Amino acid sequence: MAEKIVAVKGMNDILPPESARWEWFEDTVRALMRRYAYLNVRTPIVEHTPLFVRGLGEVTDIVEKEMYSFEDSMNGDQLSLRPEGTAGVVRAIVEHSALYEGGKRLFYIGPMFRHEKPQRGRYRQFHQVGVEALGFGGPDVDAEVILMCRALWKDLGLGEVRLDINSLGQPEERKAHRAALIAHFEQHAELLDEDARRRLHSNPLRILDTKNPNMQAMVEAAPQLIDYLGEASLKHFDALKAILDAAGQPYRVNPRLVRGMDYYNLTVFEWVTDKLGAQGTICGGGRYDGLVELIGGKPAPGIGWGMGIERVLDLVQQLGVAPPAPVPDAYAVVPDAAALPQAVRVVEALRGAGVSVQLHAGGGSMKSQFKKADASQARYALIFGGDELARGEVAVKPLRDAAAAQCTRTIADPASWASELLPA
Ligand code: ATP
Ligand code: MG
Repeated sequence: MAEKIVAVKGMNDILPPESARWEWFEDTVRALMRRYAYLNVRTPIVEHTPLFVRGLGEVTDIVEKEMYSFEDSMNGDQLSLRPEGTAGVVRAIVEHSALYEGGKRLFYIGPMFRHEKPQRGRYRQFHQVGVEALGFGGPDVDAEVILMCRALWKDLGLGEVRLDINSLGQPEERKAHRAALIAHFEQHAELLDEDARRRLHSNPLRILDTKNPNMQAMVEAAPQLIDYLGEASLKHFDALKAILDAAGQPYRVNPRLVRGMDYYNLTVFEWVTDKLGAQGTICGGGRYDGLVELIGGKPAPGIGWGMGIERVLDLVQQLGVAPPAPVPDAYAVVPDAAALPQAVRVVEALRGAGVSVQLHAGGGSMKSQFKKADASQARYALIFGGDELARGEVAVKPLRDAAAAQCTRTIADPASWASELLPA
């Protein structure tokens, strides 16, 4: 046998029955997006590297060490697999002048790529659902995108997920805070780890995000951005909180919530669960009013979030939520291959009428075909036996309901009884 070729480390296959959970999740998301009037957008997996360098920021974790970047061997272009969805969506909207007629509410579902150390909830190819609301500057839309997550948790049966919010203010406000922050860290230089020392002057805000236990106390005592916010920023934050309060959505103001990308301003938020160990953030997002301009568009505000599907589905499993497993309505048993042309005609007609039918393939005894029918979990077996067919009929045998009796139906007009096979 030839040597096996295996999947790339950190990139997973999603096979049945696990894939059923994914389809159920995606169906639930699409129904949610319809209710909130968000429209689907699909952008390429590969983008020019400078889009992410400029969009996410040069000194972010993603750009510094997590991107799959390569040179296009045909023309030398610097390309990257997308590590997140926002930059590509904003690029597409700018490129197609799509904000010309007003704001856009968009969502995407798809794979993202980051070169991280694979572990539970952290993969190199992972999948996100995300929304981007572009062209709206008010806290009403901040609340909208946050509350649609709550609605999704409910639709998925997830119960309580904790909401953390913070305000990053505006760039000028962050500048004043940044100076105070650097001064504080310099006073405690002996406590800074290598990562923090490297970021001290490039991205000190990110030091607040450290997971190093030795730095926690020092970071807790650092000057808080909220104390540097001006009136307009505070007003925006208060308005958001008022809407969340009125909607009955609890939240915690977390002054250390800074998020990984440079593009955020004003509102940032994360949905966190304690049921997934270290990788407990299942969704994160915020406002990015400077990004459209940074990508070359006419200035326009924006807000969005990205949700890790693997983490959400891990939580679904932790909580024992069981999505409906897809099973065929009927399994077609064909004891004699000579009956196949008739059987296929009938099965096609039933499928055309909306019935899900699995046709037995590969022949075999009646007994072995019935074993397969049972394993398929179909509610009915359709038996295309020679005697029945000679009478112009097919036998319909209930497989899940012991009390129900077997009957026969005409093969001349399958559509006339197809609905009998559908779930009640
Ligand atoms: P973390 O702090 O866990 O690395 P992040 O801040 O890098 O997360 P975002 O860039 O905000 O994450 O992405 C949004 C969501 O996508 C995260 O909240 C998480 O649910 C998910 N996510 C991010 N990176 C990964 C990954 N490598 N594997 C699986 N899911 C991920
Ligand atoms: Mg990360």
